[in-house]
Amino acid sequence: MKINGDVMGEGKNIYWSKFVKDLAPYEPGEQPGDENVVKLNTNESPFGPSPNVLQAVKAELNDSIRLYPPPNGDPLKREISEYYGLSEKQVFLGNGSDEVLAHAFNCFFRKNKPILFPEITYSFYSVFCKLYGIKNKKISMSENLKINLEKYDVPNGGIIFPNPNAPTGTLLSLDDIRSLLKFNTESVVIIDEAYIDFGGVSAIPLLQDYKNLLITHTLSKSRALAGLRIGYALGSNDLIDGMYRVKNSFNSYPTSRLQIAAAIASFRDENYFQDSVKKIIKGRDDLTKGLHAIGFYVVPSSGNFLLVTHTEYEAADICRRLRQFGILVRHFDQSPISNYLRISVGCEMQNKVLLEALKKIFVTHYSEDTLRI
Ligand SMILES: *Cc1c(COP(=O)(O)O)cnc(C)c1O
Repeated sequence: MKINGDVMGEGKNIYWSKFVKDLAPYEPGEQPGDENVVKLNTNESPFGPSPNVLQAVKAELNDSIRLYPPPNGDPLKREISEYYGLSEKQVFLGNGSDEVLAHAFNCFFRKNKPILFPEITYSFYSVFCKLYGIKNKKISMSENLKINLEKYDVPNGGIIFPNPNAPTGTLLSLDDIRSLLKFNTESVVIIDEAYIDFGGVSAIPLLQDYKNLLITHTLSKSRALAGLRIGYALGSNDLIDGMYRVKNSFNSYPTSRLQIAAAIASFRDENYFQDSVKKIIKGRDDLTKGLHAIGFYVVPSSGNFLLVTHTEYEAADICRRLRQFGILVRHFDQSPISNYLRISVGCEMQNKVLLEALKKIFVTHYSEDTLRI
């Protein structure tokens, strides 16, 4: 593609500083803008948000949008603090959790020692390190692609990982996380809980005992609001104070009136939220069974996605062939998961369409093979 090849990839633009030439931006999954595509590549929700959310956004679309929103999104901060039983001073809001994470890296990780994160994890962490000049050490996974927390007991400038991890979907227990916080007291530990609602146990109860713990959440996945960009962090007053210092040196108003109204309405419709999470979990179980039946190994997932590999067919090839069926999944060309695909759990129909397409792909393969013999 022209933009990527000529401008972004090679970094030749004479107007750029060396710093910009050396950046390695995050590459998000494709957004095709074609409604007919079965989009299982970016872990969005296959369901819309609660009807109350849409109503709240519409109601907010009035003359008041000529006014700036409350700078720190106070009404939403209040809502979130009440939802989780925390104080308002423990909540930080941002324009998607990617922005929240960017501020957290800037705020806590620009230290002399390297920060630690898993070898296989959310690739934005490396991008932020490059942006802020943060040294890092990637910690290898255990045999089954799980995060091995024992290996994190080394001097560090901070620790970050998603729980459940992405793109593996593996979950750590609250006890695992407590044990990490017991030995790691000198630096900030960030737990990115982007997928925690899909069956994991949040580390929020640990906040009262560990002042160096920061938890980030997003409304993009379980609350189906990826298009509105809302995320938040929860932590001790001191950590949150620091983050507001960084944020207020960057953008006074990262969350708009529409974002604030939508998010509040989402937290107030608990039934809808629980229902859609339940449907995703059921879809995840059904899809896992369906994939097993056609020869895939599926990493046990606590997210709204599955990391899978086939015993006979190459991941990159399957990805390309699915595309021809109008189905997008994600392939990361990165060892040791280069022969894996990450598939977002869709609605019942999308999951079915995916399984049918896979069967067709494999049948074609089988017959080609047969012809060759
Ligand atoms: C999707 C995702 C995010 C980003 O969420 P936004 O709020 O949409 O920016 C952060 N961390 C992980 C691990 C994710 O998968």
